[in-house]
Amino acid sequence: MKILVLNAGSSSHKAALFDFAQGQEPAWRAQLDWTHTAGAVELKAQTADGRSHQDTLATEDKTEGLSWMLDTLVAGPVQTLSALGDIQAVGHRVVHGGREYQASIRVTPAVKDTIRQLFPLAPAHNPANLQGIEAMEAILGEVPQVAVFDTAFHAQMPAAASTFPGPYEWVEQGIQRYGFHGTSHRYVAQRAAELLGRDLADLKLITCHLGNGCSLAAVRDGVSVDTTMGFTPLDGLMMGSRSGSVDPGILIHLMRHDHYTADDLDTLLNKQSGIKGISGISNDLRQVLEAANAGNDRAQLAIAMFVHVLRRHMGAMLGNLGGLDALVFTAGIGENSADLWRAACAGWEFMGLHLDPAKLQRNAADRDIAAADSQVRVLVIHTQEEWAIAQDCVQILAD
Ligand code: ADP
Repeated sequence: MKILVLNAGSSSHKAALFDFAQGQEPAWRAQLDWTHTAGAVELKAQTADGRSHQDTLATEDKTEGLSWMLDTLVAGPVQTLSALGDIQAVGHRVVHGGREYQASIRVTPAVKDTIRQLFPLAPAHNPANLQGIEAMEAILGEVPQVAVFDTAFHAQMPAAASTFPGPYEWVEQGIQRYGFHGTSHRYVAQRAAELLGRDLADLKLITCHLGNGCSLAAVRDGVSVDTTMGFTPLDGLMMGSRSGSVDPGILIHLMRHDHYTADDLDTLLNKQSGIKGISGISNDLRQVLEAANAGNDRAQLAIAMFVHVLRRHMGAMLGNLGGLDALVFTAGIGENSADLWRAACAGWEFMGLHLDPAKLQRNAADRDIAAADSQVRVLVIHTQEEWAIAQDCVQILAD
């Protein structure tokens, strides 16, 4: 079975082709970058067997760029298929599924309408996601397409977790906690159950997706019962360049006294805050860790804050889980930083959580880094969102 997965953004497109006969590693992957060269798009593609290709095309038309990218699947240095007709389904990452979707779904005209109706809730993402779906229809014709929503895994949160304590009208207006990174939280929760040799329906987990964007989920019996991201992906943890939760009174103050507009606040909180805003160095944790080790005060503060806020929210997730079988770390920071594992886990020893110092060295495998006698397991799992999307396609086609 050959499945194409597309993550269509406003400034980039990432695609991967999975051949289920060959396993979990994509046979081909490609990326389009629309920001680097004015009036042109840049392509990078590579195959699992080590071939690669780079090129530039003078166009601003997204469908034309995507068609050109897919041409590399069937001709040239990274050719992987004999014909585009060999693709049996396309899985799309769609950021917002609103209250409508609790699971992945085959794309129909009605599903496209709903994704369109949700534009106001995800103006930076859903329009680009829908454009990707329509481009694939134009290029590949009748092939089945599946929408996999970032919000879906959190859609069963109890109302007490998803409702914001504003006026009740917010409930009617759809202003509520939706949560994001759902495909990653769902995948690592399932993988955690596999690693532990336990049934997911019988586990209490905190999954920590720590990349440029960061969020936690409290997963009880396979269901997300709480998460740190909210109405938008801006809530919760301190992130690369996003603030996470701040006192909303600060925003009122900035509007009243410094005449900030909605766009100003958007830029400030999404692009100029978090690790980047505090350190003044970068949104990339590796560079900030380096500066902190070299004695930079602001870098040290940024890292201390990142850890403090992470532990604060871990505690908040714990409050509604009623126990903890495993803590799961994933994404760029969560999969790689031993400093972060040590810092995040310090302070939870009273719950019987202990790391094994001998297990903290670099290792690409999904693994348990807790000490043998730890009462809470600590798992490091490589998130595989694209693979999870491809698997959803196979499942939906089989139904
Ligand atoms: P995205 O959310 O954009 O997919 P990633 O999941 O790739 O991002 O995570 C990017 C973050 O992971 C960056 O802050 C980067 O510094 C961090 N990261 C990657 N490798 C390491 C490492 N070895 N140690 C610390 N941080 C790391």
